[in-house]
This record gives sequence, C-alpha cells and structure tokens, in this order.
Amino acid sequence: MHEERTQVAIVGAGPAGMLLAHLLDREGIESVVVETRTEEYVASRIRAGILEQSTVDLLREIGLADRLEREGDEHRGIHLQWTDRGHSERHHVDFVDLTGRSVWVYGQTEVQKDLVAAARERGQVVHYEVADTALHDLETGQPSLTFTRDGEEVRLRAEVVVGCDGSFGPSRGAVPDPRTWDRTYPYSWLGILADVAPSTDELIYAWHPEGFALHSMRSSTVSRFYLQVPNDTALDDWSDDRIWEGLATRFDLDGWTLQTGPITDRSVLPMRSFVQTPMRHGRLFLAGDAAHIVPPTGAKGLNLAVADVALLAPALVAWLRKDDASLADAYADTAVRRVWRCTHFSWWMTTMLHATGDPFDEQLQLSQLRWVTSSDAGAAGLAENYAGLPIGF
Ligand SMILES: Cc1cc2nc3c(=O)[nH]c(=O)nc-3n(C[C@H](O)[C@H](O)[C@H](O)COP(=O)(O)OP(=O)(O)OC[C@H]3O[C@@H](n4cnc5c(N)ncnc54)[C@H](O)[C@@H]3O)c2cc1C
Repeated sequence: MHEERTQVAIVGAGPAGMLLAHLLDREGIESVVVETRTEEYVASRIRAGILEQSTVDLLREIGLADRLEREGDEHRGIHLQWTDRGHSERHHVDFVDLTGRSVWVYGQTEVQKDLVAAARERGQVVHYEVADTALHDLETGQPSLTFTRDGEEVRLRAEVVVGCDGSFGPSRGAVPDPRTWDRTYPYSWLGILADVAPSTDELIYAWHPEGFALHSMRSSTVSRFYLQVPNDTALDDWSDDRIWEGLATRFDLDGWTLQTGPITDRSVLPMRSFVQTPMRHGRLFLAGDAAHIVPPTGAKGLNLAVADVALLAPALVAWLRKDDASLADAYADTAVRRVWRCTHFSWWMTTMLHATGDPFDEQLQLSQLRWVTSSDAGAAGLAENYAGLPIGF
C-alpha cells in the first residue's frame, strides 16, 4: 500500500473541505483533500446561491472575493408575498435598514470555482476520483484515511481527520453512538434554472394555497425558481408549460409579470432537517453537511458549512502549531450552538411558507407573514437570521 503523510486529512472537496484547506494553508498547516467525484462534477453542482454577510466578510478577509465583488449581486433584503382569498400582497423586508447586514447572490458553483482556482495556485493536493474512503484509528494520535486512487491503495496518515463529505460520506458514520435529530417534511422543491433575466430585483418568497414558490436568480440573465411539490414527484410530471403556469399562479400580483425562458436544469430536492452530535470524535472533526442538513428555505446550508470551518480552522491551527487544544476541545459545542440556531430558522421559514392543506396552519402562516412584514420587531428577527449572525454566535 502506498503511504502518504500530511497534517490534516480532509474528506470531501465541497465548499467546506476546500475552504478549510485554504484557511489552514494561510496559517502554514498542510492538508490533503480526498474526493470521490471529479473536479468538474463538484464545481458544476447547482445548489445554494445566497451568501450571508459573515460568509462574504470571510471571503473578503482571505482574498477570495474579487470575482464575487465583480459578478455577485448585493441584496438589501427579500420580498415576502401571500395570496389570501384571491388577493395577493408583496412586501419588502429590508435587512440593511433593520440590521445593517446584507446578503449576496453568488452561486455555490462560483464559490467552488474560486476555491479550486486558489487551491491550484498554491499547489494544494486534492485527490479527485478516489474510491473506498475509510477512516482509521481516530481515537489514537495517528489517525489515517485509506482509499483507492487509479487502482492503487493509499494510506494517508495525518494528525487530524476532518469529515467534510456531506450527507452521504463515511465520516458521519465513524462517530460511535451519535445522537441524531431528524425531520422529513411532507413536501419537496422542484428547482429549475432558466435562461431569462430575473423578473424581480430581489428574491420573492411566495406563500400560496397551491404551494410555496421562490423566485431567485444567479445573474442578470439566469433565474432560479422553486415550486413546492409533493414528495416523490417525478420530473416527467412537470412539463415546461406546467412549471411556468405554476410559477405564474403562485407569484401572481397586479401590475407584475413573470418573464419566462428556456429551462436549462431541473431537479427535485427533498426537504429535510438533520443534526448529528457530537461533531468530534477523538481526532475526527465533522463540518458542513456531514454533521447537519437544513431545508434550503432559509438559505443556510452553504453558509453553515462556511461557519463550521471558520470556527474549526483557528482551533486546528492553535492545536497543531502551539499545542493549545482549548479551541479544538470547544469546537463541537461552539459549532452546534450555531447549527441549532440555523436549524430553527430554516424550520421556521419552511413551516411559515409551505402550504399543508390544513386550514388552521393556513391562518397561522398568514398571521405570521403579516406580522413579519408589518412589525419592525418581527421583521428584525427574520432579517438578523437571514443575513446571518456573526460566525462566533
Ligand atoms: C441537491 C442539493 C441541493 C441544494 N440546494 C440548495 C439550495 O438551493 N440552497 C441552499 O441554500 N442550499 C442548498 N443545498 C445545501 C448546500 O449546497 C450544502 O449545505 C453545501 O453544499 C454543504 O457543503 P459541504 O462542503 O458541507 O458538503 P458537500 O457540498 O455535499 O460536499 C461534500 C463532498 O464530499 C464528497 N464525498 C462524499 N463521500 C465521499 C467519500 N467517501 N470520499 C471522499 N469524498 C466524498 C462529495 O462528493 C462532495 O463533493 C443543497 C444541497 C444539496 C445536496
């Protein structure tokens, strides 16, 4: 078996893994990243698109925000809409006025490309297309990963292993006797990308008796839309016409028109909340989707992955460089406090906005929507959570 050695072995080259490698490198800590997919596949996965203030601040601080500043789009807030007894209202919640914080529209694909470009520039070792990743000896001072690369078996020895391998990777399962919390929602999102200019300046979250809809965007020429659909919906059931008609109905508002265009990507996304603790076992640390999943309604998944590694990187630096393990020992508790805040916010946005068919739920949702759009106190809570609490919250 071929042997390699590094200080930090990172499983997964998604945003959490690649950002962690970048943050460690800035402090002189060496890492190796292993990834099952190809570099192109990871960089082209259409997923999150909203960066909260803390994420943008961090990317600026570490010199990774040049393209974001040029091509990203800063938003002051979001629009919330509802349709009650045939009458629609749309209200703007201004995060900047309420909290002094904003969000940026910049796709996860673009964040990933920036991270990959920076990794290439500094000569970061990333082993793509590995198979059979397994974690070993995590309770000892000499943990390791084994994997197969180009038919060759490799053992990567390290001082620390970090599981950034998302919800399907092996790291989560390497924590013995974890505690888990799980909620599967009774609906999914049908998401599309379309080559059409956004019909709105900022995102529209629409509550409608037929189901939730979200109008998001990726650029001045590409729009992203989501429709609430039943679980197990088949993509074939939704023709282009049906999708555009569904969106037009749910966003219907006097004096406003939805522009349509060619659909270039479509997928069905199940809605799930999941948290696993502890986020550390011996010399294994978990970060990002490997430890938690949120439904995308609060735009938190990517931002939470960033926050985890922003907490973890200085903890590993202090441990590996100065033999000070205090931050590493605190990581699991510090990170999970923020995880639960974001889990609650994502659940709250999800349950406020999705139609359940239950008339009692409907009245509660409409009441909640009226409150967060008419009371500064109600709006400030939404704004503070959506634009994001400071990393160390
Ligand atoms: C289908 C989907 C759609 C989403 N849409 C949205 C959205 O619209 N809005 C939003 O806010 N958030 C969305 N999210 C959430 C957001 O994209 C994630 O929270 C974010 O990608 C988390 O980053 P991560 O690095 O922790 O995990 P990931 O991005 O999942 O990266 C984990 C990496 O680990 C790799 N890996 C897995 N197993 C192994 C192994 N055995 N060995 C080596 N590597 C391995 C994977 O290939 C992957 O590249 C979506 C997530 C998914 C899965």
